[in-house]
Amino acid sequence: MDAPLELKEVWAAYPGGRGAALRGASLRLPPGNLGLLIGPNGAGKTTILEVLLGFVPYQGEAKAFGLEVRDHPREVRRRLAYMPQALFFPPDTPCRTLDLVVMGRFGLFRPWRRLPKEERERALAALEHVGLAEKADWPLGHLSGGQQRKALLARALAKGAEALLLDEPFASLDPEARLDLAQAILGLREEGFTILAVVHEEELLSQADRVWFVREGRVTPLSPPFSRLAEAWASLCGR
Ligand code: ATP
Repeated sequence: MDAPLELKEVWAAYPGGRGAALRGASLRLPPGNLGLLIGPNGAGKTTILEVLLGFVPYQGEAKAFGLEVRDHPREVRRRLAYMPQALFFPPDTPCRTLDLVVMGRFGLFRPWRRLPKEERERALAALEHVGLAEKADWPLGHLSGGQQRKALLARALAKGAEALLLDEPFASLDPEARLDLAQAILGLREEGFTILAVVHEEELLSQADRVWFVREGRVTPLSPPFSRLAEAWASLCGR
């Protein structure tokens, strides 16, 4: 990837929503960087990810890989991987961990036919990468919450995505699972992935390259060092 993820003066509103969810939001995340979006509920953090995915109409400039998202939504979505908020697979989910990883490749080969050997190997390698190889044939819903998130990271890897958009990856995970997932995310950055994550937790904060505070649809860059989330938040909220 040779271009940043970038918003310039983006205004966005959900069809049928009450007013603008983003009000002149700007940010720039260089390739290979880890960027975090923090801020209160309803601030517009998820909307930023959804604009980059081409899910929400916007005005201004929103670019991924140098492409204006509204003009190239399919190409952009092919090169991005998205971990949506609060995605959880219940125990009776009728697929295996490996199937979830392979699904990241749908569109690149024909689904519901016998899985090509190279696709299986690719998916297994991605699971191996995040330390889940031995769970490949487990029912997906039998994995813990943290393992399910790692399986979603493996799906992004198998897809061949260049950048990852993660929406609250740590939500409802215990401290050990958060730490484990944070290590996996940092490992992906080491390998050159560009990662933009919405977080309410501190796990990745001190390791982030960029942090933005989002409030009422506006984006403020924070200055490093990014160590004390609560303090930065309080000063930005004028408390
Ligand atoms: P949280 O931390 O609670 O996930 P957020 O910062 O991600 O919040 P967004 O989900 O981006 O906030 O929401 C921004 C604004 O857009 C909010 O006012 C919300 O009510 C509105 N909004 C979000 N999704 C929709 C939708 N599908 N339709 C209409 N309005 C929406």
